[in-house]
Amino acid sequence: MSSNVQVSSNVRGPEVLSAALAAVLEAVGWDLTGKPPERPTWHARAACRGQGHKSFFPATDDRRPGSESAYSAALTFCKVCPVILECRRAGQHEAFGLWGGLSPAQRRRRRARAAN
Ligand code: SF4
Repeated sequence: MSSNVQVSSNVRGPEVLSAALAAVLEAVGWDLTGKPPERPTWHARAACRGQGHKSFFPATDDRRPGSESAYSAALTFCKVCPVILECRRAGQHEAFGLWGGLSPAQRRRRRARAAN
């Protein structure tokens, strides 16, 4: 079987994805320049301190039912975190990731309830 797929030399997809990823990482506080990211003072007491970001920012479609299970590993930290309220407040308008034990979908529902 032969393939007729042609790849243009003017592919912009990777550039667009790279820019989008950089924007997301910047939004969540990752610094791509190599400088240590600035953290709020409460973060020094965070239960997730020193953990990787992967389980807090899983690759999942947060609009799909059941997507919240992707956060179950991260939630084990949030459940015992002494700064959960500070984290929840800081992340209440974030579009991605688990903040204060709340997924993006949970934060959207809270914002919608608060607006009514
Ligand atoms: S509430 Fe969860 S995400 Fe926020 S600092 Fe604590 S462990 Fe980390």
